[in-house]
Amino acid sequence: MSRVYNFSAGPAMLPEDVLKEAAAEMLDYQGSGQSVMEMSHRSKVYDAIIKEAEKDLRDLMNIPDNYKVLFLQGGASLFFAQVPMNLMKNKKAGYILTGQWAKKAYQEAKIYGEAVELASSADKTFSYIPDCSNLPITDDMDYVYICENNTIYGTKYKILPDTKGKILVSDISSCFLSEPIDVTKYGVVYGGVQKNVGPAGCVIAIIREDLITDECLPGTPTMMKWKTQADNDSLYNTPPCYTIYICGKVFKWLKKMGGLEAMKKHNEEKAKILYDFLDNSKLFKGTVEPASRSLMNVPFVTGNEELDAKFVKEATAAGFVNLKGHRTVGGMRASIYNAMPIEGVKKLVEFMADFEAKNA
Ligand SMILES: *Cc1c(COP(=O)(O)O)cnc(C)c1O
Repeated sequence: MSRVYNFSAGPAMLPEDVLKEAAAEMLDYQGSGQSVMEMSHRSKVYDAIIKEAEKDLRDLMNIPDNYKVLFLQGGASLFFAQVPMNLMKNKKAGYILTGQWAKKAYQEAKIYGEAVELASSADKTFSYIPDCSNLPITDDMDYVYICENNTIYGTKYKILPDTKGKILVSDISSCFLSEPIDVTKYGVVYGGVQKNVGPAGCVIAIIREDLITDECLPGTPTMMKWKTQADNDSLYNTPPCYTIYICGKVFKWLKKMGGLEAMKKHNEEKAKILYDFLDNSKLFKGTVEPASRSLMNVPFVTGNEELDAKFVKEATAAGFVNLKGHRTVGGMRASIYNAMPIEGVKKLVEFMADFEAKNA
């Protein structure tokens, strides 16, 4: 068996220990005689799995009791619609446009009400996070929406926007559990798990209880009302059982690794190796303004498309896969989520230095 260093933006690398445990339990989960894939979601065994996953997540993120944790389907993209459906009482909200995922959420909100662009970094190809200290937020806005880590462009908010008292809604898909966050600063914080938490198929949403009400926009499907999901502990219908089980294993792994403070240190150390190399390279350069750099997604270019393609091809052959940049941006992107070991980044940088020496 030979595993590659997988720099995919998502679905992405998972901790090897988690995969091994899942493999060992594949045919017989803890004496149940079944795989978790085959189990009823109403069984006692499965109930313990989902409850324990929630408990471990609450411990890791220090989630206060007045926040609900929901395990949902439809990906982050379906959640874009759930935000206005559940929160747009006044049919007006502010959006900060920092890339494609923020833009998609903004466009989705426009189906349901007035979505106002509060700030944008489109003028410089989303290579920075705009100043959010004095946004044109009006009293009639229901919430302010951000995409906290921009997977495609490699930017991350270092300070949350001043929402002038409005509810903050944040998409943390690609920085989920990469560092501690203060949940109390948000009304809703959510993410697709396939970037930094688990396999595809589940969105985890952490929502302040008072925002979960019966007053959704007319026509909101039962499944998309947070109240339905909260009242049924995410078991209104069949949840993505196996995905939640693997997420639970990742939570245990994160606890073993020392929790989110330790992950932050680890992730900072990894990202520094790559950014330091980019800052000193004569061939490669990072595309993001230093103050806005993500710890998770690191886009870079050579400035020459042919050379970019050659690099991606040779890197793939050497076992560094999925380094091609997003189809809308080009160049390269290394996603270095929690599960990427530090050796993976060190070896990538060695490979890049070698490529530079041969192609400069
Ligand atoms: C990948 C991604 C999405 C889209 O996720 P889906 O689950 O595929 O809908 C949304 N937001 C961010 C920040 C992402 O990285």
